[in-house]
Amino acid sequence: MERTDQRINCLNCGKEFIFSARDQKYYEEMGFRNSPKRCRECRALMKRERQFVPQADGSVSELFKSDCALCGRAAYVPFKPTGCKPVYCRDCLVAKKIGEQKREDYKQETRLS
Ligand SMILES: [Zn+2]
Ligand SMILES: [Zn+2]
Repeated sequence: MERTDQRINCLNCGKEFIFSARDQKYYEEMGFRNSPKRCRECRALMKRERQFVPQADGSVSELFKSDCALCGRAAYVPFKPTGCKPVYCRDCLVAKKIGEQKREDYKQETRLS
């Protein structure tokens, strides 16, 4: 079958992109039956915003990217951020825990004396 370049409108940004004959061949070889729905940039962006982390029990958990409520850096959480709950990055989470622990220690110390 002769392959020709296909023009597809990206589902995400609406931009037209080329699904080239070479890419089509690659897709076929990979066993993908559907042509891509998003342009290369949007696909790369989606990849960056999602992380798949292999778990000890063999399953894979999906992490969603959000901004840390404290430092604004990228934070990955195992749920889709809704905006209702603050999301913290790993560092801030640890710092928060240490802070809470210190408060607990302080409470106990004051109770003892
Ligand atoms: Zn796009
Ligand atoms: Zn942070």
